[in-house]
Amino acid sequence: MVADAAQRAGLTTPIRHQLFIDGRFVDAADGATLATLNPHDNTPIAEVSMAGREDVDRAVAAAQRAFGPWSRMAAADRGRILLKLADLIEANAEDLARLESLDTGHPLRDSRVLDVPRTAACFRYFGGMADKFQGETIPVEAGFLNYTLREPVGVVGQVVPWNFPLMFTSWKMAPALAAGNTVVLKPAEITPLTTLKVAELMAEAGLPDGVVNIVPGLGAVAGQHLAEHADVAKIAFTGSTATGRRIVQASAGNLKKVQLELGGKGANIVFDDANLDAAVNGSAWAIFHNQGQACIAGSRLVLHERIADEFLARFVAIAKSIRVGNPLDPNTEMGPLTSRQHRDRVLSYVEVGRGQGGEVITGGEPPGDAALAEGCYVMPTVMKARSYRDRIAQEEVFGPFATVLTFKDDDEALAIANGTDYGLGAGLWTSSLPRAHRFAREMRSGMVWINSYKRVNPGSPFGGVGQSGYGREMGFDAMREYTQVKSVWVNVDAKVPPWYPR
Ligand code: NAD
Repeated sequence: MVADAAQRAGLTTPIRHQLFIDGRFVDAADGATLATLNPHDNTPIAEVSMAGREDVDRAVAAAQRAFGPWSRMAAADRGRILLKLADLIEANAEDLARLESLDTGHPLRDSRVLDVPRTAACFRYFGGMADKFQGETIPVEAGFLNYTLREPVGVVGQVVPWNFPLMFTSWKMAPALAAGNTVVLKPAEITPLTTLKVAELMAEAGLPDGVVNIVPGLGAVAGQHLAEHADVAKIAFTGSTATGRRIVQASAGNLKKVQLELGGKGANIVFDDANLDAAVNGSAWAIFHNQGQACIAGSRLVLHERIADEFLARFVAIAKSIRVGNPLDPNTEMGPLTSRQHRDRVLSYVEVGRGQGGEVITGGEPPGDAALAEGCYVMPTVMKARSYRDRIAQEEVFGPFATVLTFKDDDEALAIANGTDYGLGAGLWTSSLPRAHRFAREMRSGMVWINSYKRVNPGSPFGGVGQSGYGREMGFDAMREYTQVKSVWVNVDAKVPPWYPR
């Protein structure tokens, strides 16, 4: 099965499908496996080992043993390994891109120009960061030197979802490793393959055994155990808000440091003074890239009523023209959703919307093409909601599903934008500088894009507020998240205080 799927996908190296613990690929202790499926036709790609509690314990123990030497290694040497890894990712770019497309359904054209280069760029950024993140000297009272050390927290557990598994290896592991932590990462059960491939490349780059351990497994078993584990000092989670809450509860036992990147319902506001060409194109990217399976998708299209009709005519024309098909075909612009269960969930929102008086403008169904009938496909969908309080304007659909709302003036636009519990990404299209800055300040979200949408960069803080979580990935903020501060006091010239016992 593995060899067949690899050959059909044009891979030149074998697919890894076992747990990666202490530098070796191994079966689960109880031999459990789960088939990972190709979302294009739901055929099995590989039987992947599924970690149980015992495997997670072994992985955590390996990470604990590796922590001392790794954290004491010169920061520049840690960085050099990450830089080598970035080079190896580029050297294996085509295989990684194909494997990601095979396992997740990302169109190959995206995997090649976005997922793989961004993964390499993120490892490279934090490879360079390793020896540039430093403590401070604090001007305290005379006679004392006070400085801070930024110390790694220890063994870090990381749990990630299925929408960008390759990129998440770098977002999660690069800053953790650069800061001197060791890692146990659990990929999503349905998309473990590129993560395991990166583990192989890490070993090739010279990462010492045990520094990184990859434990594919069920969320309720391996993920939950990692979040509860007494020897894990921090848990970094990306996924749904509901699971995020469970992670917080599970982490309480040993008071883990917790970082949460959760869902979103991004408002993408188009004003009547916007450059419509740019806004239409940027908004299509904002919601249809990666089949809309992005926490920062511009899933609420909030249009000024004066330009709404013209905007929608152009936007719907783009939606209808998107080439939906096999992700491994380089001409495909939109692939399948990543699982059948998720496809059904996305389609269920069409009925939810209709039930509250919403209107489908285009899409809302699987494609008619018989060649795609077995896959997890959904046509690009645009749906009008009656109110911003309706479920399709409040809940994260996580698919190629734009919910359209209109507004009369700036205050109403702001009320709509801030009218959800989420607060991850938000954007606006306008030619008014004062308005752009007012909205940047007043929108309740962790990121704001002005006359663009969904930009990310390894140097720019990424994360949310409210039900979108807390903590920041990327940049210096990520290094702060993966370290703790120690304050060191040195008596250099101070008189011993008079009450000091003699
Ligand atoms: P999910 O929460 O169901 O699963 C995410 C991960 O958590 C998976 O690895 C899963 O196995 C694991 N998990 C499930 N139950 C667990 C438990 N009890 N304990 C520990 N781990 C558990 O999310 P999903 O549906 O796979 O992913 C989609 C969600 O991820 C969306 O809500 C999306 O917005 C969010 N997301 C957020 C960001 C961000 O950076 N803010 C990025 C991408 C995706």
